[in-house]
Amino acid sequence: MAIKKVGVIGAGQMGSGIAHVVALAGYDVLLTDLTKEAVDKAIETIGRNMDRQIARGIITVADKQAALQRISYAPDYDAFADCDLVIEAATEDESVKRKIFTELSPKVKPDAIVASNTSSISITRLASITKRPERFIGMHFMNPVPVMQLVELIRGIATEDDTFATAREFVESLGKTIAVAEDFPAFIVNRILLPMINEAVYTLYEGVGTVEAIDKAMRLGANHPMGPLELADFIGLDTCLSVMQVLYEGLADSKYRPCPLLVKYVEAGWLGRKTQRGFYDYRGEKPVPTR
Ligand code: NAD
Repeated sequence: MAIKKVGVIGAGQMGSGIAHVVALAGYDVLLTDLTKEAVDKAIETIGRNMDRQIARGIITVADKQAALQRISYAPDYDAFADCDLVIEAATEDESVKRKIFTELSPKVKPDAIVASNTSSISITRLASITKRPERFIGMHFMNPVPVMQLVELIRGIATEDDTFATAREFVESLGKTIAVAEDFPAFIVNRILLPMINEAVYTLYEGVGTVEAIDKAMRLGANHPMGPLELADFIGLDTCLSVMQVLYEGLADSKYRPCPLLVKYVEAGWLGRKTQRGFYDYRGEKPVPTR
């Protein structure tokens, strides 16, 4: 199956990154969110991120202009009727995704592929909502999408071989590399990464180290490019908490218990970079630890 037109649902960090790489690869992109303002903001961000790629000699000004022209705003799912692939990248909350797939499913072509960028939620369960599970797949991009090489592909129990092959070909056409993960909570990358981040929050909670000491220790001591608390702010603390909850409930093992301090930050609305405050405060010139 040839993919030409791609719908993207959710224009946050991930949806805008996905629209960015998909448009640069030559596909037409329809982007939607709860409001048109969110999509306008995403298109501005995409433009700025493309400017960075131009400055680094990765793309040309002409590439940017052509790619931006391929992205358009979709006010509702009627506009998705001629999409060959729809990638859902909305908030990591199963009830949000459930509502989206219920509304989207009757609108897409029967042979269109529907994919979710979920970090943790069961692909088999999401697929069942669409009533077309054989054309559904997990397509898990990494953040920031234009920079990161990997995309995890996750088949649900009913995903057809042709769906998988088309998804693989599509991801490779974006210049990305796939890793195949089985459909278990949080798949591969987040099954390993998020418990480490959660443990870093426990380390802070128990007073073993300060925010700065923990991040420095892991940067210089484990050679990680970013400390775990910086990384948590980058991912979004709401997303981190959701993934830990899915691990905790899905695997029924207390070792995945979300740290109460992570819960507190999310309850405060301090979600990391996207709200300007998390383990660091980003409102000034330099990030300042909040504990
Ligand atoms: P985000 O908070 O930046 O963006 C989510 C967007 O979804 C928001 O703009 C919100 O308005 C929109 N949204 C909410 N309900 C919607 C609806 N009904 N219809 C359309 N749009 C709706 O979050 P994000 O970091 O972009 O995460 C999005 C998805 O990508 C999640 O499933 C997350 O787990 C996954 N993911 C995140 C990362 C990461 O590092 N942040 C990495 C890989 C995958």
